[in-house]
Amino acid sequence: MAGRLDTHDALNQSPPYVDVDLYASDRALVDAVAANGAKGEAKALSAFGRRWGTAEMFEQSRLANVNPPKLNSFDAKGFRCDVVEFHPAYHRFMAESMREGLHASTWAPDAAPTGAPGQVARAARFYMAAQVENGHQCPITMTRAAVAALASEPALIKRLMPKIAAREYDPSFRPWGEKSSITLGMGMTEKQGGTDVRANTTKAEPISDGYRITGHKWFMSAPMCDGFLVLAKAKAGLTCFFMPRFRPDGSVNAIQFQKLKDKLGNRSNASTEVKFEDAFAMRVGEEGKGLRTILQMVQLTRLDCATSSAGIMRMALAQALHHCRHRSVFQKRLADQPMMRAVLADMALIAEATVSLVMRLCRSFDLAVSNPMEAARARLLTPAVKYWVCKTTPAFVYEAMECLGGNGYVEDSILPRLYREAPVNAIWEGSGNVMCLDVLRAMGREQGGREVVAQLAGQTKDLPGSAEAADAIVKSLAGADTEAHARVAVERLAQLAAAAALTESSPSAAEAFARTRLADAPGASFGTSALYTADIAVLLDRALP
Ligand SMILES: Cc1cc2nc3c(=O)[nH]c(=O)nc-3n(C[C@H](O)[C@H](O)[C@H](O)COP(=O)(O)OP(=O)(O)OC[C@H]3O[C@@H](n4cnc5c(N)ncnc54)[C@H](O)[C@@H]3O)c2cc1C
Repeated sequence: MAGRLDTHDALNQSPPYVDVDLYASDRALVDAVAANGAKGEAKALSAFGRRWGTAEMFEQSRLANVNPPKLNSFDAKGFRCDVVEFHPAYHRFMAESMREGLHASTWAPDAAPTGAPGQVARAARFYMAAQVENGHQCPITMTRAAVAALASEPALIKRLMPKIAAREYDPSFRPWGEKSSITLGMGMTEKQGGTDVRANTTKAEPISDGYRITGHKWFMSAPMCDGFLVLAKAKAGLTCFFMPRFRPDGSVNAIQFQKLKDKLGNRSNASTEVKFEDAFAMRVGEEGKGLRTILQMVQLTRLDCATSSAGIMRMALAQALHHCRHRSVFQKRLADQPMMRAVLADMALIAEATVSLVMRLCRSFDLAVSNPMEAARARLLTPAVKYWVCKTTPAFVYEAMECLGGNGYVEDSILPRLYREAPVNAIWEGSGNVMCLDVLRAMGREQGGREVVAQLAGQTKDLPGSAEAADAIVKSLAGADTEAHARVAVERLAQLAAAAALTESSPSAAEAFARTRLADAPGASFGTSALYTADIAVLLDRALP
């Protein structure tokens, strides 16, 4: 890109990476979607990719993130209102995502919670949306996932479902029954414990038409949702509740936001500290079974965390490749410099492995209803995939940033925002160690974990390092002192599953991935794995046309 300025010609800068088809330009995504049964959606996905890849959408994302939400605790007359105001660009993303059904398309709108197939196509859209704007994905994923928990209360979900499934975004602050569509959030984490929710102190007392909730939540995101699934202690123990923003009599519920968190990233989205002062709520599931009820929701948000992080990596990779193809150093394009090619190809391999892994996992969710092996696969692999994919993202984005040199460190490029966004998916919805403990649980309790590992080993038997990896996973997750070694085994499990997924969507990448990740252990940085020159050429060609 060149241009004449007063004092000099501006040369050798890459043009903005905008107005792209986020679907068609991503061969790994196209092949993973096809391998997992959603090839028929290709045209619609490409239309989505073109729409979300416009310069205008990238600009809207910048606006949504440089104009973070504001808390208005009181109205003009001094009455409490607890309203959070968002920039119009944030509302735009909510409207776009809901129009495409990202908040509910995997549920049958009339008879929840039977589930409708379509996890793969919906995840492909969610992954593309994550490349552009992440903050609004928080209420989108929570709304979809809440249905799984609300299913424990058939009468309530029957009333809520038409509003949840509706695709026209309604940001108005009114009782949910009066609105055309609603969004849902979740409040579990308290000051004394997020992982250990059994330590919750928020109390629930029965009243004539529901429960009265008193206490607090230390983190409760997307506060303008129309209702929240909240954990509180009732007489029989920790219980899940649906807490609407308005009471049944139409008055504003006693959900008082104390503060908006000043976060590293995820700035377009609001996360509050909140107090409940006799807030009205309805029970979801049995008293004392709150954890079991809400975990139905968390399994789906964890899947979305991994999908979103795969999207973040894809955008970082695309930016790096695009820049390196336009930028010359020492009379040669960066993309042709051997060491840069090794770095970019190694990143492309990981990006390809993660999208393939996530889409295969989505297919397990689709098939789980009628196939116990797929149900076991979804159960075991969701925490493992969230662990590995989300933990890989920050280092990945950092490396992509460095590919752009100084430009990558400056806000005008999208990289700083992606970098700030990268860690949160590993922290919320169960942090890294908690994911590993969950994998141990799934392996230990007759949930088919060992059979899943054996199936993955069978699928990858011709790949280097597969048998050894499967052996090490089982030994390590079943041995003494398991917790201390769980991270190594869970990372290996996710990588074995990635190799298996790649055998179905990209066999050449499967071999390179297994060779460099299962049979070998590369150094700490990208570009240190033992890729062959031929692998590098294939991976780079696939990564961006
Ligand atoms: C931006 C943002 C938004 C959020 N929004 C919401 C929301 O909307 N609703 C909500 O309920 N929560 C929300 N959270 C909270 C989030 O889910 C918790 O922060 C997370 O679950 C971790 O809990 P904690 O902060 O209490 O940390 P802790 O539970 O104290 O954990 C600290 C660390 O210890 C590790 N650890 C825990 N137990 C063990 C163990 N047995 N062995 C080894 N290591 C262990 C964890 O993996 C973690 O790394 C949000 C958090 C963030 C950052």
